[in-house]
Amino acid sequence: MSAELSCLSHRNAAWGRANPKLAMQTHLDCHLDTCATKSAAWTALVASGKVVPDSCRPDWTES
Ligand SMILES: [Zn+2]
Repeated sequence: MSAELSCLSHRNAAWGRANPKLAMQTHLDCHLDTCATKSAAWTALVASGKVVPDSCRPDWTES
């Protein structure tokens, strides 16, 4: 079982879509622009209405 490796990969968009909340936590420090996994998770959460893109309190940071 290679789930551990998969969920840590920054290019596993399929896993990100399937486990968006977990992916957001796992890739907390990643940028949406550079991490396909987080980007896919974020898109899935927005699509399902779980988060609002223009939230005043986004759970990711830009540095
Ligand atoms: Zn990542």
